[in-house]
Amino acid sequence: MENKALINTSGIINNTKTDPNKILPMRYMWARQHYISGVANNWTPEEVSMQKDVEQWKEPKFLTDDERRMIYWNLGFFATAESLTANNLVLAVYRHVTNPECRQFLLRQAYEEAVHTDTFIYCCDTLGLDPEYIYNMYLTIPSINDKDRFVISLTESIFDPNFEVKDLVTLRKFVHDLIGYYVIMEGIFFYAGFAMMLALKRQNKMVGIGEQFEYIMRDESIHLAFGCDLINQIKAENPALWTQEFQDELVDLIKKAVALESRYALDACPRGLLGISTQQFVNYVEYVADRRLQRIDLPKVYNKENPFPWMSQSTDLSKEKNFFESRVTEYRTGGSLEW
Ligand code: MN
Ligand code: FE
Repeated sequence: MENKALINTSGIINNTKTDPNKILPMRYMWARQHYISGVANNWTPEEVSMQKDVEQWKEPKFLTDDERRMIYWNLGFFATAESLTANNLVLAVYRHVTNPECRQFLLRQAYEEAVHTDTFIYCCDTLGLDPEYIYNMYLTIPSINDKDRFVISLTESIFDPNFEVKDLVTLRKFVHDLIGYYVIMEGIFFYAGFAMMLALKRQNKMVGIGEQFEYIMRDESIHLAFGCDLINQIKAENPALWTQEFQDELVDLIKKAVALESRYALDACPRGLLGISTQQFVNYVEYVADRRLQRIDLPKVYNKENPFPWMSQSTDLSKEKNFFESRVTEYRTGGSLEW
């Protein structure tokens, strides 16, 4: 009975009362702010030199077999995860999020996902990797396939062209999709890979790819923030959505995601990496998952310390430059060119 309750149609999704083409005046300034942050982080992969990476990759003894395996696993996972995310955004999320400033952000995000897809094309081209191998890893490597299938399973119903968000049952399905892609895919499943690739970069190995992962991570941290703000706004506008039962279900999904990500970390670097144990990568994933849970007002599960404090420097979008780590802290192009 309660589940047949209709959703709020004067808010952020499926709004029947406002014109989706009229962006001013704005109502959700956080959406606008995420758009502006995205533009401030504009970049393209070709701006990052792969010269040194090519030399290191071709030198048979420079990288260990385990390091190569880790790089392959992460390229294989990310190469297809980016387009899964982009497809979901355009084919499933955009239709229901009618608010114009949110749609402006979604269009920007879709472009950024195209840039990320381009990054893996660029890596394959410069390093001479076999695209058949890389782009099939999401089918052939079980620990990658399980992550992708898990996210897809959360979102299947909303890909149905007849799917409409009209009551609490369908709204919960829609929120499952947002949790699946924004919180789990972009917020948890990307993070073991980010930590591994940036750990390698800290040792001056494959710094070009490392820098590209750093740029991607910054974009993803904005996508994640937008997704959480969107979820929190939907909750605020539809308080009946957020029952204890639904919250328990979401916490359970995030626990399953952490288990899949831990298995992936173990598979990508079974013997640890550069003095970092596989368990530390798992702890990092758990630490990150707690932060995601708290961001959408769900209770922490793991209570782990951050084993890699250096990771937050790379995500931090502040203007301060860390001269010892990287040159990528704030980046502007185009608009800042002087004529
Ligand atoms: Mn992306
Ligand atoms: Fe993203």
